[in-house]
Amino acid sequence: MRTVTVVGASLSGLYAARELRAQGFDGRLVIVGDEPHRPYDRPPLSKDFLTGAADEDRLALTDAEETAGLDAEWLLGVRARGLDARARTVLLGDGRTVSTDGLVIATGASARRLPGEDLTGVHTLRTLDDARALREELTRGPRRVVVIGGGFIGAETASSCAALGHAVTVVEAAPLALVPQLGTEMAAVCAALHRRGSVDLVTGTSVAALHGTAAVTAVTLSDGRALPADVVVVGIGATPNTGWLASSALALHDGVLCNDGCVTALPEVVAVGDVARVGGVRAEHWTSATEQPRAAVANLLAGRTVETVRPVPYFWSDQYGARLQFAGRRQEGDTVQITEGGITDGAPAEGGFLARYERDGRTTAVLSVDRPRPFMRARRELARAAAPAQPAAS
Ligand SMILES: Cc1cc2nc3c(=O)[nH]c(=O)nc-3n(C[C@H](O)[C@H](O)[C@H](O)COP(=O)(O)OP(=O)(O)OC[C@H]3O[C@@H](n4cnc5c(N)ncnc54)[C@H](O)[C@@H]3O)c2cc1C
Repeated sequence: MRTVTVVGASLSGLYAARELRAQGFDGRLVIVGDEPHRPYDRPPLSKDFLTGAADEDRLALTDAEETAGLDAEWLLGVRARGLDARARTVLLGDGRTVSTDGLVIATGASARRLPGEDLTGVHTLRTLDDARALREELTRGPRRVVVIGGGFIGAETASSCAALGHAVTVVEAAPLALVPQLGTEMAAVCAALHRRGSVDLVTGTSVAALHGTAAVTAVTLSDGRALPADVVVVGIGATPNTGWLASSALALHDGVLCNDGCVTALPEVVAVGDVARVGGVRAEHWTSATEQPRAAVANLLAGRTVETVRPVPYFWSDQYGARLQFAGRRQEGDTVQITEGGITDGAPAEGGFLARYERDGRTTAVLSVDRPRPFMRARRELARAAAPAQPAAS
């Protein structure tokens, strides 16, 4: 291959570029990103960056020395708007084209939006620019903040806003947030963390409308209640950025469909990170975005699938001074055992806990609140159990 193009200049795109060079690709490397920024880390945007505990220089994922070593052409602030797979060409929003032999799709996901988001004071939180705007608004004195969505980003944002002294309400349409990720029992325990920040949690009702003329003033709920608001943060999930591939030959269904080696139906096109549906699963986790590029690049350079990705899914979340960590694949009906620490009044006890999800006597997943060491041991056990059996030595 003479040219490889990476579309998406963020976490998984950077890891793919590193892998290309580490695995010996010495041809032309083009990296296209629609944000004007060099790759930066998103997890702090809802945590330390929002509270002001971390500044922008702490978000950088790379530095001048590494970027010089990568020897890539960075096309930043320009979006890819199409892929002509037959002509092996990526079409750019400014009219330019990039001829390429191989393509890594790393375009991530975008925050879902609500009607009325053009009012001043209404925010989403996906990009550095989003976080800058929200952070700036939160410095203007006490605010009434309504966070729409009680998932991880909503909960972290609520936690950060509460830590800054704002009055915060979280609105969650489901009776309980985080059930798909944690199951009902543990989702209820983690939702109780909102009490630590004196955050009001309103569940089982959705948002009917955002009100205000120029700036937002209130959020009305489907049960008729009105919540006064100076700031609204919409945290209702993300959709994979596949629009630019709509007329390509690639199969798209809630992400770019790939085999378990991140390879699409075209061997010269691979996908990684939040945009990729790998072996039927699309994960929006930092660790997946950093683990997939290794196999994806090996397969791209080989021209066929020589390596697969089979990590044990892992993510973490920081809320109200607690660190949640989860690894594994739980299913509906798994039983949950607390094996260390405990739960008090329906919330994590002081010192946290370790919970194992089990099915047929096997651990399927593990959740920790503030128990990082036993969690890491349990995560390693899960990885060992998931690893393909080694052939017996003769
Ligand atoms: C606020 C926040 C907090 C998070 N916290 C955690 C956490 O605590 N733990 C955890 O495990 N995960 C967390 N995540 C998730 C994690 O950050 C993502 O899984 C990770 O960023 C995915 O990386 P990616 O490279 O696949 O996608 P992205 O980081 O979304 O990068 C994709 C890039 O491609 C660009 N792009 C999109 N379309 C085009 C196009 N057509 N042309 C050119 N460029 C394009 C995008 O603008 C973006 O720059 C968090 C995410 C957010 C937003």
